[in-house]
Amino acid sequence: MDTLVLKFGGTSVGSTDRISTVAEIVKDASKEAFPVVVVSAMSGETDRLIELAHLFSSEPDKREFDALISTGEKVSASLVAIALNQLGLKAKSFSAAQVGLKTTAQFSRAKILDLNKEIIINTISDGYIPVITGFQGITDSGDTTTLGRGGTDTTAVAIAASIQAMRCDIYTDVDGIYTTDPRIVPEAKKLDSISMEEMLELAGQGAKVIQTRAVEFANKYEVPVRVLSSFEPGSGTMILKEEEGMEDAIIKGIASQKDQTKFTLHGVVDTPGIASGILSPVSDEGIEVDVIVQNVSVSGKTDFTFTVATEDRQEVEKVLKDKMTGISYDELIVDESIGKVSLVGVGMRSHAGIASTAFNALADAKINIQMISTSEIKITIVIDVNQLEDAVKTLHKAFNLDK
Ligand code: ADP
Ligand code: ASP
Ligand code: MG
Repeated sequence: MDTLVLKFGGTSVGSTDRISTVAEIVKDASKEAFPVVVVSAMSGETDRLIELAHLFSSEPDKREFDALISTGEKVSASLVAIALNQLGLKAKSFSAAQVGLKTTAQFSRAKILDLNKEIIINTISDGYIPVITGFQGITDSGDTTTLGRGGTDTTAVAIAASIQAMRCDIYTDVDGIYTTDPRIVPEAKKLDSISMEEMLELAGQGAKVIQTRAVEFANKYEVPVRVLSSFEPGSGTMILKEEEGMEDAIIKGIASQKDQTKFTLHGVVDTPGIASGILSPVSDEGIEVDVIVQNVSVSGKTDFTFTVATEDRQEVEKVLKDKMTGISYDELIVDESIGKVSLVGVGMRSHAGIASTAFNALADAKINIQMISTSEIKITIVIDVNQLEDAVKTLHKAFNLDK
């Protein structure tokens, strides 16, 4: 049985008109394969729910918070099913709990462990189109969890992997993946295809067009993924295991990320094990540490700096205070005014001088570099958040990505 997973993001189900269009797209797709639909909440809804919780508390109870913010997807799933019925197609909405989508118990950043594909397959066999809520799951004990912002992408790819769908189509408000966010650089170019490896890095560094975990799933279970627009027809961008043909571009794309916080432990007594002493308790809490820099020590003392997402700031401060043992330092400096810009491309592997081109371009634009981290196919630069968009524009131009 050939199945096709179609995921619709918030703007794609943002109004009754948009939902009618979604129903038409699903109807068309049903000519190609048996569709399975996965939906986000209507645009703005998840933000609205988060704000509501924060009217009561800056740190709402984690279980209740996830129970609350998962409700938006239930509304859109039912509405899409109703719209499909209206078109004469038989459809049934399902919550993640109803398809047995089990996750870890880390509220707001839960990871998918398992799902009951039989329910989905049987629904299709009975002649119905399943419409499933994205972004959420349940723990073993039945509590509702959510998968982090943008998590519906991951639900969709996980379902596609589980039912061995022919493809997972991610419908959104842009017509594909661009060399950088087209909202920041209007001259950005749409890509016909991109490798999983490059998309993984771009998503990980802030290109929110698809959630990083979704690309990880696609890579691991070899799910072909396509990103395309629900607003206009087009072939979108394919995310492929290996990109064939064309010579690899040196830089494929640029990602940027705001809402980053830099922690500096100033005057740390430099003994073996300080990096793990500082960072292990942080990662034990499931918090992702990003760029890390340790300076050369002067008279036995050093500065240790790392960045995390600003939403994790409070938790990191708590962990450093309560759980870090055996580390002595003079002062903790917390800076929320930073951002990251990253250059990504598999062609970087075989080309020298990429970093210096980037640094020269930033220097010419009077953008000061605070931290640098590199990997085989990525260069990440931490700068003042107020210069972030400027930096993206500058680098996009410096590497001729608009050409
Ligand atoms: P959805 O609600 O459909 O999940 P998102 O807002 O999460 O949509 O993701 C789509 C947005 O991602 C686009 O509107 C665009 O601004 C942004 N984006 C960031 N980087 C890129 C990129 N490289 N290519 C395309 N879009 C990007
Ligand atoms: N509704 C959730 C969010 O806004 C999940 C998603 O859209 O993918 O983050
Ligand atoms: Mg999204």
